Amino acid sequence: MKIICVGRNYTEHIEELQNEKPQDPVLFLKPDTAILLKKQPFFIPSFSQDVHYEVELLVRINRVGKHIQKKFAHKYYDEIGLGIDFTARDLQQKLKEKGLPWEKAKAFDGAAVIGEKWLNKKEFENVDDINFSLQRNGELVQKGETSHMLWKIDELIEYISEYFTLKIGDVIFTGTPAGVGQVQINDELKGYIKNEQIFSIQVK
Ligand code: ZN
Repeated sequence: MKIICVGRNYTEHIEELQNEKPQDPVLFLKPDTAILLKKQPFFIPSFSQDVHYEVELLVRINRVGKHIQKKFAHKYYDEIGLGIDFTARDLQQKLKEKGLPWEKAKAFDGAAVIGEKWLNKKEFENVDDINFSLQRNGELVQKGETSHMLWKIDELIEYISEYFTLKIGDVIFTGTPAGVGQVQINDELKGYIKNEQIFSIQVK
């Protein structure tokens, strides 16, 4: 399986990192080795002094597809999840300044948290109106709302599948809302869709 991530999909997050608003979705990939293993803590890697959490809504692909039109995109997923796109922000900043790829900052081992709980999309009246959030040590740090996405889920599936064949089990990270911040050793990160806890991660 592969992980396709969307960058800069929420205006307030683009502003907090002082990035330009993109013309098209910004895409990058994470390998399956980036997935944080179940029940394991996240270890801050030695090559970064500034790892950030980014909570993101996830979509799990359930059929093979390429050149999927937006109007058919809803047939390619049933499940909605939640995860964290851990980012070595200091390293990413250096790579961005040089115009280099971001993989070292985004695709390292453990950098993709995929919450163990998946919710059927039928549980939601409208997938373009889902609330999600992240708590750090019991304090609310990020609050997202899919209605604020620059590109909605079906538009992302259309755009991504122009470039990459989507396969069963692939996971799309749909971008982070504002409020990203640094993790510290001994942090506890809990992700919620509506009021339902989807994951709980220890930072070591
Ligand atoms: Zn992200």
